[in-house]
Amino acid sequence: MEYTDPTTTGSTIDPSSSSRLAASLPTAVKGPCAACKILRRRCTDKGMLAPYFPPTETLKFIIAHKVFGASNIVKSLQELPESMRADAVSSMVYEAKARIRDPVYGCAGAINQLQKELRDLQTELAATQADLAIIRCQQQQLQLNDSMSFPEQSNLGSPWESYWN
Ligand SMILES: [Zn+2]
Repeated sequence: MEYTDPTTTGSTIDPSSSSRLAASLPTAVKGPCAACKILRRRCTDKGMLAPYFPPTETLKFIIAHKVFGASNIVKSLQELPESMRADAVSSMVYEAKARIRDPVYGCAGAINQLQKELRDLQTELAATQADLAIIRCQQQQLQLNDSMSFPEQSNLGSPWESYWN
């Protein structure tokens, strides 16, 4: 790869080397997109998948292609406005990864697992809140007992008057 040229990695780039960088950039970055690389097709500008599967993200395409098939991915993307396609691709890649990890339940398995964790944590939270309420009650009880055992310290009548009114 000619991209490792040390003159282009420094922070100070003189005009001659930056123009050299600009000239070498298209060839260094282009190459076939991940989809065309895997499908052994010629990569054209019209490739629907190219923007979402750049040459550096081959594995992402392999995973999505294995589960959905390239033509289904293209069909799905064609049905969507361009602004939603990137999200659709990341969703498909996520779903495909989940399907490979868990061939029976896929994404639903992951959702189930997270919902179970959520229920367990909610149960734990409720139990902790109940414990906390009990401790607060006990503390109040102790404070009441304390104030009741020293009634002579208050010269202003019953300590309850100000408490209850
Ligand atoms: Zn391509």
